[in-house]
Amino acid sequence: MPRATGRPEGVRSSSINAADILSGGSKATSRILREKDLWEREQEFEREKERWRREMEGMARCRMVEAKQEAGLMLDDEDDAWVPAEFENGIVSDDEEGGKAAEEEDDDESSSDESTDEGEGENRLYSKKPRRQKHNRTDDNAALHKEWARIAPDLLVAYLEHLAQEITHPADSADVHHFKILVFGADKAYQTVVPQRSEDSAAVALARIGCLPGHPTRPRVAFEIRGLEQHRQLRMALPSCTAMPWMKAVCQLSNMKYRESLRESFGLALDAYLAILRDVQKLVDKELGRDEKDWYAKYACPPCGNKLPGEKKMDPERMHASDGNESQKRLLNSGHTDHRDLLPPTFWISPEDVDKFADEVKRRDKGKKKKKTEEEEEEDDGVCPSVQTWKAERAQAEDVAYTAIFKQTGVYLCSCRHGIVEFIEQMIQSGEQAKYCLAVADRILEIYGEDQLLATDIGCSMKETIKKSSLGNRMATLRLRVVVNAFHGWAHKRECQLYNHPLFLKGLGIEDLEVCERIFSSLNGVAHAVRHASHFHYIQFITLHLDGLRRDKYGALTKFMRNNHRQSIKIIADNTKLLAARKETSKDYVSWLEDERAYYKALRKESPLDQLKTKYAAVRLDLEVQQLALQKFEATPARELATRVLGAATAPHLLESYKERERIIAYRKLTNLDKRAAALERDLGIERWDAKSPEFLAAQQYAVQRKLILAVQKLERLLVARLQELSRSHLRRVGYKERKHLAKAITRRGSAIRNAITNVNRLRAIHRPGAPKLSYKEVVDMGYSAELDVLKESSHDILHKPWMDRKNREAQTAFFKLERAKEELDRLHHEIPRMQDWVDKEDDIYDSAIERLRGTPQDSSLGVSPRGLAVYLEREAAARRIQNDEHRRVLDEIYRDKSYTGPRPPPTHVYRPRPRALAFRSSIATRSSPKDGMDVDEEAGMSVAPDDEESSSSEDEADEGGDDVEGIARDFGDLLVR
Ligand SMILES: [Zn+2]
Ligand SMILES: [Zn+2]
Repeated sequence: MPRATGRPEGVRSSSINAADILSGGSKATSRILREKDLWEREQEFEREKERWRREMEGMARCRMVEAKQEAGLMLDDEDDAWVPAEFENGIVSDDEEGGKAAEEEDDDESSSDESTDEGEGENRLYSKKPRRQKHNRTDDNAALHKEWARIAPDLLVAYLEHLAQEITHPADSADVHHFKILVFGADKAYQTVVPQRSEDSAAVALARIGCLPGHPTRPRVAFEIRGLEQHRQLRMALPSCTAMPWMKAVCQLSNMKYRESLRESFGLALDAYLAILRDVQKLVDKELGRDEKDWYAKYACPPCGNKLPGEKKMDPERMHASDGNESQKRLLNSGHTDHRDLLPPTFWISPEDVDKFADEVKRRDKGKKKKKTEEEEEEDDGVCPSVQTWKAERAQAEDVAYTAIFKQTGVYLCSCRHGIVEFIEQMIQSGEQAKYCLAVADRILEIYGEDQLLATDIGCSMKETIKKSSLGNRMATLRLRVVVNAFHGWAHKRECQLYNHPLFLKGLGIEDLEVCERIFSSLNGVAHAVRHASHFHYIQFITLHLDGLRRDKYGALTKFMRNNHRQSIKIIADNTKLLAARKETSKDYVSWLEDERAYYKALRKESPLDQLKTKYAAVRLDLEVQQLALQKFEATPARELATRVLGAATAPHLLESYKERERIIAYRKLTNLDKRAAALERDLGIERWDAKSPEFLAAQQYAVQRKLILAVQKLERLLVARLQELSRSHLRRVGYKERKHLAKAITRRGSAIRNAITNVNRLRAIHRPGAPKLSYKEVVDMGYSAELDVLKESSHDILHKPWMDRKNREAQTAFFKLERAKEELDRLHHEIPRMQDWVDKEDDIYDSAIERLRGTPQDSSLGVSPRGLAVYLEREAAARRIQNDEHRRVLDEIYRDKSYTGPRPPPTHVYRPRPRALAFRSSIATRSSPKDGMDVDEEAGMSVAPDDEESSSSEDEADEGGDDVEGIARDFGDLLVR
């Protein structure tokens, strides 16, 4: 009997005696049978396990392919992750011209993040041609990256020398060796001869002439730094433009054949270039005095950070918004052969710092797993539906797909209200969890100190989470406030809104705190580039895009303030007019709010006995309804009941059996309700209340009221959520997956809304028999606050409260909007001088740093060329000056606005357009024909006229897109000045 592998110990064939078998002893036989059975079952189990494993593998593969398709990677032939090993060579060496060179270069394909070692060995047997000697990609890459790291300091020196044009080539020196190399610029490829000193490596020699090699030691191609910079700039603005499309375009322009190896070399050169820039940035930060820890978190946004001496304190001091986004996923094991470690800039919160909070959250969540019935959920006043959804989605996110497929599942970020990112975290193998927000709160408390405000979409529950965490004490002493952001807030329960919605909170201005969503809409572009990237590239490219984003948002700061100023003025004007027509005073509106808060508080504080009584009355109500329904059902002939479902021509016996089935179902419901009523009676310690007793009638009336209010509120929430989803689904850049998700959500909401309407109608029928029924169409057309009218017909106390009346509620909203707009103006009166002060000083800071560097001797302790650093800084300063000039112009526009009542700069700082820019502008104006409508004489004046024609609601896009001739001339003028 052959021994099978994997057989459990203790079941041994030798333990069976042959004599036993021959003698036919029943004991032995049954033992054999038992053993055989066990053996078979075990085999079956093994087979099942194998089948299951394969299935899981297949699923994982499908998901992987799906993810790749989504990232657009499957469309290209060079996707080699799924190509069996035997074809791996074929892909790269199908390059006919100079196959050898290509193959050799291919040895260095380390930067190919998608490549994996999977499937080797197994497929080796079927290999069509002898493979090259097996090499370990991880080791190769480690060696390659080590080389890059070794030459990095030399590259930095050579790059800055190149910038300073300090390179001298002793042409006739015997020390100099020349080599030829193919160089790629941004739009052309050419061969060039590179002089190389004996002490320099080829890479350094290239860097001296403004190129970077595609390989640290054996470069075959090089890339102009200008081209790399162009690619970097493009990528900051359009993150989905990766190395491949760029290289394809360059090849097309220079009549070269695109090869995969070129992309890889370009990728390596780009890594080297970005590493140089990181080092330069460190030096520059030091020169500018920005090397203090967390400098960027504090001062990257001047309106938030540049506090002026003697200014009045604000509450909140600074507003932050945080949210998670699951687009920036990275597949597990992607680029697993790339072990480089990128020390991320300080605004990345490390996973270790995040995990400090992991246990705190888990501990408390455990007890809450109890599943709730729909009824209970409806009754549950404590938790907002958005929080419930959030929790459900998180739970779903913990599912296999995430942990098995993705390493990074997205990012969680925190930004100030102006959209300048303060912190970012990687979400690792999990959905959005409380720990990410806790880590952000921790940083906020640590860096910004007192009176901060943090908004998230589940602020209401997050507030409690932070309170109960180890941050609780600091939160209280430093008065950190946690709120819900505005649009998300409308989907929370009314009670939650009264405490957490920006509209009802003092000091928040007209800020909606939805800034993260706007950042994500731009950051989503990175998703494609990082999905299959190594961890190094993941951090590098997200950081690169955030740098671009920070630059853009800085440039838009004054426009943000100008638009907010205009908007606030308009809100004040509109709402003052609206409120003037009403008899209430501001005290009334505030007291309504207090009253409404008190109502919900009382509702929550209902004694457990009262709650039980209400619940009991509600169940009894349902029971009665069900009994009535059943009576009606019994009395109706089968034909009448069933023809609608089965058709008129159905045989009578079929109709009868249909009715019977339905009756059984109805009875079951009735029995369930009866059981629940009995259980509650036991809890309350009562006999079944008589349906006519006054106690029961009162409780029942209250129960109906309450159920009706809850039902209508639920309907309202669903309608708001639906409106939000509808508007999102029409967005242009919503991804395929998200569109699908939204479509599903909208359909789901559709049926949820129908159910909610049915519920409201049912309760209304009890409460006020004969009232007209609401229809789906009617409700959906109504918009979202009108349904409250439904409630007015009720006779209950609560429903007579002024704040339950729609008109009153609208007035109250107008009042709070007015209040918030006034606060916004106050905040702007802080932010505008801060910004003015910043732009006044910043250019000088740059200038003096540049001057200092220019005066530094070449052999200083700096270690690099001070002149080169000065040139770099000059470029940066020039770009910044363009932004600052624009800020001065917009600030001036604000000061000219008659409605502006805030502080103004001293007369010495009043904005004057640069004279040369003006000369350029007027020259353009003179050249254009007078019928263009440009008044030449006026144009030559000393000041720039404010863009009056811009509509007051002009958004950033309108400003950026609608550049007129004047604006372009202004920009050109700025260029001329430099
Ligand atoms: Zn809430
Ligand atoms: Zn800010």
